Amino acid sequence: MLLEGSCHCGAVAFRLESAHPYPYNICYCSICRKTAGGGGYAVNLGGDHGTLEVEGRDGVRVYRVQGDDGERSSLERHFCGACGSMLWAWSARWPELVHPFASAIDTPLPVPPERTHIMLGSKAAWVAPDIARSDKSFDDYPDESIARWHERLGLVRE
Ligand SMILES: [Zn+2]
Ligand SMILES: [Zn+2]
Repeated sequence: MLLEGSCHCGAVAFRLESAHPYPYNICYCSICRKTAGGGGYAVNLGGDHGTLEVEGRDGVRVYRVQGDDGERSSLERHFCGACGSMLWAWSARWPELVHPFASAIDTPLPVPPERTHIMLGSKAAWVAPDIARSDKSFDDYPDESIARWHERLGLVRE
C-alpha cells in the first residue's frame, strides 16, 4: 500500500510503497526512546526503498549512531533538520529496505492483531509496557523480521 508521511513543520514530505505497513514492532531501545519515542518507544514499519520519493530532500538530516566499539552503525536515521521529526531509517546493509517511523506516517495504518515488543532490556525504568497475552516480547532483537511477521499472519499488502 502507498504510505504518505511528513515531518511536523511541513518542510519534508515523503511517500513509498509498503507491503509491510502494520505498526506492530515496538522498540524500547535508548536510541528510539530518545530520538523518536516520547512514550518510551518508537514503532518502525517496513517499506520498499526503491519507491521512496521525498519532497524537501534538502531539509533532511541524517543521524548515524556511534557504536560501543567506536564504529558507526550502518543504520541511518533520517529526520527533518528544521523541526526534528524522525522520518525513516535506512541501512546500506539492506539497501532495498526502508523503515519509516509510524509516527511520521499520515496515511491511516492498519491495526495490528498482535504486537512485538523488542529491546525490553534497554527499556527506561519509568516505561510500563502494555503487553497483551498474544504479543511477543524480547529483551533484545526479535526472532522474525518485519516481513516474516506479516507473512506469518497473512497480512502482506499489495
Ligand atoms: Zn520539519
Ligand atoms: Zn530502537
